[in-house]
Amino acid sequence: MNFDKEKIKKDFKNSLISLYAEDVKEATRNHKYYALSEVIKQYTFENWMKTNKHYIYDDVKQVYYFSVEFLLGRLLESNLINLGIRDVCKEALLEMGIDLDELLQAEKDAGLGNGGLGRLAACFIDSMASLSIPGHGNGIRYKYGFFNQKIVNGYQVEVPDDWLKDDYVWEVRRSDQALKVRFGGYLRMEQVNGKLKVYHEGYETVLAVPFDIPIIGYGCDTVNTLRLWNAEPIEREFDLSSFSSGDYIKAIEYKYSVEAITQVLYPDDSNYNNKFLRLKQEYFFVSAGVQSIIRTFKKKKRPIQDLYKYVAIHINDTHPSLVIPELMRILIDEEDLSWEESWNITTKVVSYTNHTIMQEALEIWPVDMVRSLLPRIYSIIEEINRRFIIEILDKYHGDTALADRLSIIKDGSVKMAFLSVVGSHSVNGVSKLHTDILKNQVLSDFYAITPDKFKNVTNGITHRRWLLKINPDLVNLIDDAIGSSWVKEPEKLIELKKYSKDLGFQDEIENVKFKNKQKLINYIKERYSIDINPDSIFDVQAKRLHAYKRQLLNVFHIMFLYNRLLENPNIDVYPRTFIFSAKAAPGYHLAKQIIKLINTVSYKINNDKIIKDKIKVVFLENYGVSLAEKIMPAAEVSEQISTASKEASGTGNMKFMMNGAITLGTLDGANVEIKEAVGDDNIVIFGLKSEEVLNFYKNGGYNSMDLYNSDERIKKVVDELTNGFFNVSGNEFMEIYYHLLKYNDEFFVLKDFDSYVKAQEIIDKLYRDRKRWNEMSIINIACSGRFSSDNSIKKYADEIWNV
Ligand SMILES: *Cc1c(COP(=O)(O)O)cnc(C)c1O
Repeated sequence: MNFDKEKIKKDFKNSLISLYAEDVKEATRNHKYYALSEVIKQYTFENWMKTNKHYIYDDVKQVYYFSVEFLLGRLLESNLINLGIRDVCKEALLEMGIDLDELLQAEKDAGLGNGGLGRLAACFIDSMASLSIPGHGNGIRYKYGFFNQKIVNGYQVEVPDDWLKDDYVWEVRRSDQALKVRFGGYLRMEQVNGKLKVYHEGYETVLAVPFDIPIIGYGCDTVNTLRLWNAEPIEREFDLSSFSSGDYIKAIEYKYSVEAITQVLYPDDSNYNNKFLRLKQEYFFVSAGVQSIIRTFKKKKRPIQDLYKYVAIHINDTHPSLVIPELMRILIDEEDLSWEESWNITTKVVSYTNHTIMQEALEIWPVDMVRSLLPRIYSIIEEINRRFIIEILDKYHGDTALADRLSIIKDGSVKMAFLSVVGSHSVNGVSKLHTDILKNQVLSDFYAITPDKFKNVTNGITHRRWLLKINPDLVNLIDDAIGSSWVKEPEKLIELKKYSKDLGFQDEIENVKFKNKQKLINYIKERYSIDINPDSIFDVQAKRLHAYKRQLLNVFHIMFLYNRLLENPNIDVYPRTFIFSAKAAPGYHLAKQIIKLINTVSYKINNDKIIKDKIKVVFLENYGVSLAEKIMPAAEVSEQISTASKEASGTGNMKFMMNGAITLGTLDGANVEIKEAVGDDNIVIFGLKSEEVLNFYKNGGYNSMDLYNSDERIKKVVDELTNGFFNVSGNEFMEIYYHLLKYNDEFFVLKDFDSYVKAQEIIDKLYRDRKRWNEMSIINIACSGRFSSDNSIKKYADEIWNV
């Protein structure tokens, strides 16, 4: 299609008329946004159809990426970029007196995810489309996405994210492709021709209606699909006229209980929540997704035995792990295959990514819950486990201890990570360090028996969104220096390295950063009426609030710095702006107290005349994809300070780096590989190593109270939590206080304090040497190409999916 200015203008005007019977003059920003988005969506339809036909009727293997979260953010500008029409569209609108950048603000974020895991899924589907890999997302269409955060009086307040209140432009409802998902009921066994058949009866049926979103590849004709499932009542079971008066209430109850399944995203990150409704959600989108895959596959008219040649299913963490028994169910009960045949196919189809080693994040379900909600699925899991244990005992000479350690079902629980490992042909961690920890600690028994299953694929981010879209001035600078081929081949960014010592280029890099800081300053001024010094160091920690991510360590350093400045306002501290942005899970009290602490410290410091504006602390509310896009280009220091071994990869670290920030971090997750990429001189590393942390957990030897008593700086800061220093009640931060001293500081905040303070002093020194800092910044950008999700996806395609 030829997208010239005139065509876009004409289509846009027609769109306004047909949607709202309005012309450009009358239309509100919202209407103009919808009218334009509708036009852009239509532009993708032809290629979407062609892509789908190609996938079905030519012999191409399909990848289905199952994820309970897709944190998409806004789509209009990304779609314009990927279609290659951002500039022409901007001009066309301008000629009608419309500012594209302003229209873009009308789009609500699609916030169907908590954080890193959901954003990874979004980056991956962008990369699959852009690499023309036949890869699709499969997930849940939550009516309410991740909550909106307001800060009231320093506290987090959660506001529902009613993102579907107005129409969502990018989705297409496909009622004709709805499927049925069954819950509850009982099993009946029967011998049929000498074969044991299992019948599932007495169940409740839920209709799964797919909503498809086109995923547009960059600079190619590929348009893949993100399919999100909506739970709806079955007409037949909700036919009010046929119910007697007593059944009327039941019918309404049925409708609401069904709709509840896709009502809300659970707002917990790195934390497993043992909730019945969550299990329902997981099976709901898994069952609908697998059924839909089988239906599509059958259009090829190939024998079902060939499924693995044409289909790869990837599970993003264990939330979709019921894919394994669900596929078994379909192959055995519906396709009439034997157990052995079905198992052979299933394990060839499914692959699994592990995202965490944290105990509290590992999914386990009570046997009773699984059995009552999903009787057939449970019976299959039992059989998978029975056969697996027999195999282990057989192979390892009756090693019952080993068999016991590996059992998928144990102590009345089903261990979803174990089910995922056993039922997949590939298990991968998300950074080198994380994969090593999986192999040597968390899944070491599985690694011992099936070493070839284990692989590493380090996470990545789409450079199209996280650089091309959000940092146009930097992009211009890069293009002028090395041309624009890096957009197709991000590793070419490495060519920037030769400009790292070029003083002219350094100046330009500094100017771009300054300009981006100014933009963020304006945003902050507008919302919070706080004045920020543009020459101060922008030191940012933006990510979920979790104890292991150690925002607390960051705040303690700020409190310490403030104490020093109070003692002597003239000490030579380079001006700094500490920026935080983070949501806490609504039930996570410790995390919420840390938010209150940040805001309390912020209030006190920002209003203290004595310290002469040397430091400022800002908390930006409602962290999400769109806010991240504002923050990254302006950041200079990237705080990646998790307790070593806890952050499986991190992807925020990559976004900051790609926009020229210097990482201040522990040797955790992908920080290790960032260090490897940029070299020791272009990153600031501090703190305990993962082996040391794991050793403390195993053998003890750390006592936080001793540190508190021996280090005056620490004692002062910790005491200020409860002694009225911040003019709040002595109980306000009690949970933090107990966490550190009574429960022995699980995440080594006090232990790493000294090392962190020293690292911050190094940052202070480095920043004063403008040449050195700019050189570091350029090297970070230059080395960021390998963290493009295109790289991760190529590796998945080659080594795991075989596409
Ligand atoms: C990238 C991203 C994350 C993940 O950040 P980490 O620092 O890796 O934890 C979380 N939320 C949003 C909105 C993101 O864009």
